[in-house]
Amino acid sequence: MNETEAQKEKVDILLVDDRPGNLLSLKGILERPDYNLISALSGEEALNLILRQDFAVILLDVAMPGMDGFEVASTIKQRERFKNIPIIFVTASVHHIEWIFKAYSVGAVDFLHKPLDPHAVRAKVAVFVELYRQKQQLKHHAATIQRFERRERELEVARLRIESDRRYRHLAEAIPHVVWTASAEGELEYFNQRWFEITGVDEKSSLGSGWSSALHPEDVEKFAAQWESALQTGKAFQMEFRLRKADGSYCWYRNRALPEEDASSRVVRWVGTMTDVDEEKRAHEELHGAIRLRDEFMSVASHELRTPLSALQLQLQSLQRLLQKVGAEILEGRITEKLGTAVRQTERLAKLIDSLLDVSRIARGKLELQLENFDLADAVREVAERFRDEAAREGCELNISSQPVTGRWDRLRIEQVITNLVSNSLKYGPGKPITLSVAPLGEGLATITVEDEGIGIEPDKVKRIFNRFERAVPTRHYGGLGLGLYIVRQIVQEHRGQVEVESRPGAGSRFVVTLPRRPSEAREQSHVPEATEHADGHAG
Ligand code: ADP
Repeated sequence: MNETEAQKEKVDILLVDDRPGNLLSLKGILERPDYNLISALSGEEALNLILRQDFAVILLDVAMPGMDGFEVASTIKQRERFKNIPIIFVTASVHHIEWIFKAYSVGAVDFLHKPLDPHAVRAKVAVFVELYRQKQQLKHHAATIQRFERRERELEVARLRIESDRRYRHLAEAIPHVVWTASAEGELEYFNQRWFEITGVDEKSSLGSGWSSALHPEDVEKFAAQWESALQTGKAFQMEFRLRKADGSYCWYRNRALPEEDASSRVVRWVGTMTDVDEEKRAHEELHGAIRLRDEFMSVASHELRTPLSALQLQLQSLQRLLQKVGAEILEGRITEKLGTAVRQTERLAKLIDSLLDVSRIARGKLELQLENFDLADAVREVAERFRDEAAREGCELNISSQPVTGRWDRLRIEQVITNLVSNSLKYGPGKPITLSVAPLGEGLATITVEDEGIGIEPDKVKRIFNRFERAVPTRHYGGLGLGLYIVRQIVQEHRGQVEVESRPGAGSRFVVTLPRRPSEAREQSHVPEATEHADGHAG
């Protein structure tokens, strides 16, 4: 025994023999500080031990009662885990060549003959122990290399992460907005310099959830609720709130946050920005205020104008009647004429004011329909009748082509639609014929068409003319407030219908109104998109 042997790590060697004496003598021969000799008195016991621990080599007696050496060896070799353990057969006699082949075929790697030659035993066992040790060492090296490689990879990833974080922060610092990041749980972890400049809050009090002390007290609750819901759903988040600036004043900011996910779609952190939207917000509020004021003014002004006008109209009418009665012969011709003009002017004025009233009603969502059953053709005829004198004055021939179409609509409002369209045709097509038609369309719809051969509309203006105050003609040539078609569209839409126009400049215009015959039933399947009010107050 030398020093190096004593220092070597112990290896386990299994000795299998049914005779304790044989085992003892084997142990005596192999005794070494770096060998751990374990003995088994039967094949079964040996197999049990092999299952539990790793052996460098097995010395197996062939002739044993019960399970003999061959059976033990072949059982060992069937198992993937053990099949590489070298087995040395110990036999009492020199055998026939066939026996030797059989031994090799069940996995023997060598033989020892009894009586045992201690040198041969030690030498053979030492060879396999050495092989085993080398194998163990290789395994150990491989594991070390693997560990080393893994560590290298981790270092590389960490380096890349630091690099990308650094670049990302550079970028964040270069942006004139506030940039922040938060953990998956919503704790703020980083703010760029801009945040500190704006709020004057230091880093320590900004991180975690401390930053929210810079929020306007009225916005805190709403923000907390929305942020919490974003954290729960992992969905992008946006909200406007007021931030207290370093000088104590408040300013509107739009806060946007996007979740950052890992490969398995788990939110790992949030990246956000805050952008100054103060001006935008104030302009918006001012505009809304102005629109509200305008609508209120329109309502008040038209009511105020309507009252004295109605009184004036009554007075004029009674004067007309009075004159007819007293028969003031001499003056009658001139006075009647002047009075007629005055009455017509008041009627025009009344119509303008009524339009203003309607528009303010629509703006307040108060256009209520009084539905009743009637024939559209009747309504068209009645309106045409009312326009007879005016059409004659303008030199327009009014043609009607109508089929009876009954339905359930608001009669006065539908008459208003026809009136507005016809008065436009008279205004924009004087001296030219106008055709009015009514027809059913399929089972459930009805159409009213008003067609003229007037000045027509420029294609780029066609879309806008149904908006409030929009006009496609210069005011100095044609009077008007730009409300007639807006009212038409609102009434038609309130009936779940739609109005369209086809027009060619210089050739004329054709307005087609399509109405469901039972608007109350058409409500759900209406093909007409809802009118949406834009911030500029014009219906889209
Ligand atoms: P207004 O006639 O008071 O200007 P409307 O809302 O009735 O307002 O019409 C909007 C604009 O549409 C008109 O200013 C005009 O330019 C155009 N328009 C409407 N009807 C006709 C038509 N029949 N022929 C040509 N242009 C028309």
